[in-house]
Amino acid sequence: MEPSEVKVRFAPSPTGHLHIGGVRTALFNFLYARSVGGKFFLRMEDTDRERSREEFAKEILESMAWLGLSSDGEVFYQSKRLARYQEAAEDLIKHGLAYEEKVDSKRAIKFKMPAARAVFHDLVHGEIQFDASLFGDLVILKSDGYPTYQLACVVDDHEMEITHVIRGDDHLSNTPRQLLLFEAFGWKPPKYGHLPLILGADGAPLSKRHGAVSLENYRAEGFLAEGLLNYLALLGWGPPDNQEFFSLQDLIKKFSLKKINKASTQFDSLKLEWLNAQHIKKLPEAEYLAKITDFHKDLAKKFSPEKWKIIALLYRSRIKTFKDLTEEAAYCFSDIENYSEPMYDDFLNNRSLRAHLNAWLDRAGEFTGFDRPDEVEKMTRDAAQGWGIEARDLIHPLRFALTGKTVSPGLFELMSALGKETCVKRVRKFLKKT
Ligand code: GLU
Repeated sequence: MEPSEVKVRFAPSPTGHLHIGGVRTALFNFLYARSVGGKFFLRMEDTDRERSREEFAKEILESMAWLGLSSDGEVFYQSKRLARYQEAAEDLIKHGLAYEEKVDSKRAIKFKMPAARAVFHDLVHGEIQFDASLFGDLVILKSDGYPTYQLACVVDDHEMEITHVIRGDDHLSNTPRQLLLFEAFGWKPPKYGHLPLILGADGAPLSKRHGAVSLENYRAEGFLAEGLLNYLALLGWGPPDNQEFFSLQDLIKKFSLKKINKASTQFDSLKLEWLNAQHIKKLPEAEYLAKITDFHKDLAKKFSPEKWKIIALLYRSRIKTFKDLTEEAAYCFSDIENYSEPMYDDFLNNRSLRAHLNAWLDRAGEFTGFDRPDEVEKMTRDAAQGWGIEARDLIHPLRFALTGKTVSPGLFELMSALGKETCVKRVRKFLKKT
């Protein structure tokens, strides 16, 4: 088969939020298609009338677009193809391969499971044997005229000319049933590859019990699509030279189905955060600023664009997700309620230090260059020099007074971003001056 003929699909059921495991399935399909010049399609498996919701379908599409994993053609909706599944089921009846069964005077259709022992070759797991005599006949059309997953999946994989079905291990038991349906229709089946299960830290399959598992949660935490995709690519796929940081383009270049592991893989939030931090650092500055500003719309509004930019850039190398900024730079967004003891007392009991801070307040009050970090620095250093003290003996207490912490990124940038009024107010409050 020519590589250019590869067609794969991601087929979510819109019965809930997009799960992180689903994103990994979508990504592996996408990477495979892109790496061999094939096509990647999206198919909404929305035939579960009770559980499917249009909002979820919309959300899934929006999430896929955010991730950059959009369909190479129109999105398929199974709910629009009911007549086609009914026709396919009737066809099997005509050929004696299915039969109808009355359910409360309504009619369902069941596929006669051939009593076959057979094997298929899985792209990840190799040879898999099965004994279909253990399966029992399979409902393919429900009494309400809706197809079951097995029928709709087979009909669509055939009509979409899917060449490779790449999905989670949880679908491994569906594959023999689907292969037998392909055979009954007289259609050539695609190749199948099942991705290893994702486990939580406790070794159980990743689920809601482990906290955030939906893509929405990760977006709300301020993860980048790049960081998430990079991490998910490593869940079950072993890159050739143990490389860890990948752009999407790199992943496409290096991805190979042959390197997918059989063994289940453990979700490691710390590694995800670490990789996300790397991606935050690597973003072009303008893109970083646009993204973090969009994420923190309300906070950003409280500052002038220049001051917000100072803050966003100061913390760039310290945050693992955009949300981290709220915590890391908390003192930029609200006043210090409590200084930690006993350090606060030590500072306050130091008379010369108090005198210097008071003198600094006088200087700052007259100073007009707060908009420029280099000017604030000069003013502060000149003051220290004038009083015959080391600059750090002024900078250290100022930092503590302004941030409540003994370490912070560039103090003069911070002072500039906070502005004169806030700096003066905080130092006064620190000195218990009202
Ligand atoms: N709708 C199925 C799911 O969300 C897709 C299974 C498949 O890829 O065949 O799990």
